[in-house]
Amino acid sequence: SHAIASLYRLLLASAPSDPSAPMLISPDGTRLSHGEAHHLAGRLARGLATCGAVPGDRVSVRADKSPTSVLLYLACLRGGFVYVPFNTAYTEDELAYLIGDAEPAVMVGRPEDEAFLNAQAARHGARAVLTLAADGGGSVRDLMASERCEGAPADLRPDDLAAMLYTSGTTGKPKGAMLTQDNLAANGLALAEAWRFQADDVLLHALPLFHAHGLFVACHTTWLAGASMLWLPGFDRDRVLDLLPQATVFMGVPTFYTRLLADPRLTAERVAGMRLFVSGSAPLLAETHRAFEERTGKAILERYGMTETGMNTSNPYDGPRRPGAVGPALPGVSVRVVDEEGAEVPAETVGDVQVKGRNVMKGYWKLPEKTREEFTADGWFKTGDVGRIDAEGYLHIVGRAKDLIISGGYNVYPKEVEDVIDALDGVVESAVVGVPHPDFGEVGVAVVVTRGAVDEAKVLAHCKAHLANYKVPKNAFFVVDLPRNTMGKVQKALLRDTYKGLFAG
Ligand code: ATP
Ligand code: MG
Repeated sequence: SHAIASLYRLLLASAPSDPSAPMLISPDGTRLSHGEAHHLAGRLARGLATCGAVPGDRVSVRADKSPTSVLLYLACLRGGFVYVPFNTAYTEDELAYLIGDAEPAVMVGRPEDEAFLNAQAARHGARAVLTLAADGGGSVRDLMASERCEGAPADLRPDDLAAMLYTSGTTGKPKGAMLTQDNLAANGLALAEAWRFQADDVLLHALPLFHAHGLFVACHTTWLAGASMLWLPGFDRDRVLDLLPQATVFMGVPTFYTRLLADPRLTAERVAGMRLFVSGSAPLLAETHRAFEERTGKAILERYGMTETGMNTSNPYDGPRRPGAVGPALPGVSVRVVDEEGAEVPAETVGDVQVKGRNVMKGYWKLPEKTREEFTADGWFKTGDVGRIDAEGYLHIVGRAKDLIISGGYNVYPKEVEDVIDALDGVVESAVVGVPHPDFGEVGVAVVVTRGAVDEAKVLAHCKAHLANYKVPKNAFFVVDLPRNTMGKVQKALLRDTYKGLFAG
């Protein structure tokens, strides 16, 4: 199939034939139809142009989730402006770094960000600052209301940028991933088809809009099917449980699922009308997968992706969804596992995961050197993840290359050790990180969350019984919660920092 020049035109063509069909349904019952949404996006696109944005310019958005915030994304797609969302949890220092890096022409922020953004605009030459409040109010809405004309969908090329998303910053400073019209269109189409999206689907949307999961995976699949979304400003367990009976699809990070499981109101009856639960952005514990299926009769479909590539693999819609596996490559995506020399390894062998396909980004914004490093000469993207492909062609993510522990010259994959610890009765979850050690270079340290009487001796003895000596952590520490970022990813860098002095001379 040929490259797609405008994601927006594709979405317009995919909208339901009845323009009054709902696109967004708010918990209070307010509906925004597909027809209205495109008209409002047209006005907003025109308004952004009046503010001085031209196609190819970046529009940065740091806003709480509201129906207006998703219209802003649609407006950027329509006008050919590059949508650059910022994590709502970021501090002013973090934002200042991202603004300096992205150099947006227009900045949208919360009302309370206005003074800060004005100062940043003056510094970095942005042409306008707009506000968007949690309730959807602010100058963005005023602009949308006052504008009479609709900006026409921009004429674009497949290689033009549609969005630039910053990576989550789990392994270092966030990097801007340049995503083109064709990247997003190709991946959206692949997902909508693989997951059988239909016009009568209702996706319960509780994810943030500043990350690929909530922005691309959730919105593109629904829009391409002309379906609708039940719109929540964030994950709220009670509201999710209340709304699940009205939905057909739910997408979450693993912590959403563990939180749902902790509530007895999650029952098979409540989710009887659901046809799909998707998990991604961080590893879903096999135990969570099993517990969810036992309770509800529904097997969570786990997929694997990243900011730079969109979605790469997915457990099959029809066919076994394997706990602990992220499934085979999606149609149009190639996935391989290679050794240190870059040679493809046989099935079941652990190595570096690489990806190729129309889904893979154009490059890292302003980082040509880094971009060259992360692509092979023949165009494979180095994900930085370590994994293996099993005999059935399912990928298993073993961890991140950066989290690999090299102890006395031996490679220790933290996930293998964590899986052993997690299997111990009374353990909820664990994280194993490498810390400097005078004899071994590095050793593993386990950080464990328990729900019962588990002590260090018990954890270490259990590891000794199941793992080669060099893989056994030197210590086990107990915490109430593992540190996680907004996408539910364990912050291993933070843990390494906490325990790095443990064996210092
Ligand atoms: P940074 O690149 O800035 O260090 P990040 O990699 O966490 O941050 P994202 O692009 O948000 O930023 O996350 C992609 C990563 O999330 C993947 O490379 C992978 O490590 C992890 N991931 C996503 N889905 C899964 C999954 N189903 N199982 C295991 N890991 C996953
Ligand atoms: Mg990454």
